[in-house]
Amino acid sequence: MEAVIKDAPGYDNMELKTIEEPVVHGDLVKIKVAYTGICGTDIHAFTGEYRNSKTPVVLGHEFSGVVVEIGDNVKNVKVGDRVTSETTFTTCGECEYCLEKDYNLCSNRKGIGTQVNGSMAEFVLSREESVHVLSDKISLKAAALTEPLACCVHAGLEKTIINQDDKVLIFGPGPIGLLQCQVAKAQGAFVILAGITKDKDRLDLAKSLGADVVVDVLQEDLQEVVMKHTNGYGVDKVFECSGAVPALNQGLPLVKKKGTFVQVGIFANKMNPLDQESIIQREITYIGTRSQKPSSWHTALKLLEEQKIDTDKMITKVVPLKEWRQGFEAVMAGNEIKVIIES
Ligand SMILES: [Zn+2]
Ligand SMILES: [Zn+2]
Repeated sequence: MEAVIKDAPGYDNMELKTIEEPVVHGDLVKIKVAYTGICGTDIHAFTGEYRNSKTPVVLGHEFSGVVVEIGDNVKNVKVGDRVTSETTFTTCGECEYCLEKDYNLCSNRKGIGTQVNGSMAEFVLSREESVHVLSDKISLKAAALTEPLACCVHAGLEKTIINQDDKVLIFGPGPIGLLQCQVAKAQGAFVILAGITKDKDRLDLAKSLGADVVVDVLQEDLQEVVMKHTNGYGVDKVFECSGAVPALNQGLPLVKKKGTFVQVGIFANKMNPLDQESIIQREITYIGTRSQKPSSWHTALKLLEEQKIDTDKMITKVVPLKEWRQGFEAVMAGNEIKVIIES
């Protein structure tokens, strides 16, 4: 079968290659891939900044497809099922985190598309426990966005809980920020979404996805906008989805006293200046959130089934597997929202 392979560390070193089809056994499920989302981490793998993956490896961890074969121990997934899958391929099964199904925190977890072969291919393997059969209300295209949506569910409904009366500020109108916005709107919150001038189209899209107010922080005074909409108190919760240090420090003083700041975006550097004064004086709870876990997937799929998340508007480009490079280039050029590969 054909597969997009990261051959070696460093810049690029990627190509479409013909490799053996994966073989099922035990609790594994073989999935004929329909769609795979190109994620920021895939781009980092391309540029060589993401060192977490082993090479050679087939990339792709946000996917949907149809089951074509199952291992002997698979009980609840059948051939022909339309599915998506969590990215967890194996875990240690013994640590405190595994026992709580916090697989995102297991130190020995192996992920699909990073440490084991992923879905930018005709077929991919996943373990039965990670596979979710789709309701017929969820299209295969929409299902390819379940993984990033689950990350936003984990951030917004598990690490903290967005309430109906909350005023929420989100930084970064990329795919994650736009999904975080929709998760917040699904809860009934008031959402202010902040971006920069080059995000104009994304901010427009955010409005059509339900954001109450969008702000270009280079053109408008964000503090003024936030204070105007919050009676001078600041927002209940900030979701920093841009990974930009200026956003972090612009956001902290805009959190209401006793409010919450959730760090979703990943920074380029490990150490950054941080406005501790605001954290202390405003008694801010600063929360880190990493990836997603099984409970996040259940909620994400429920949101998709209830049509609370508009994925159609977010998928702005679909490329065939053979043209994966075009897809990656489109993401890097920054003119698309979500690019997905059709296998
Ligand atoms: Zn991803
Ligand atoms: Zn573990």
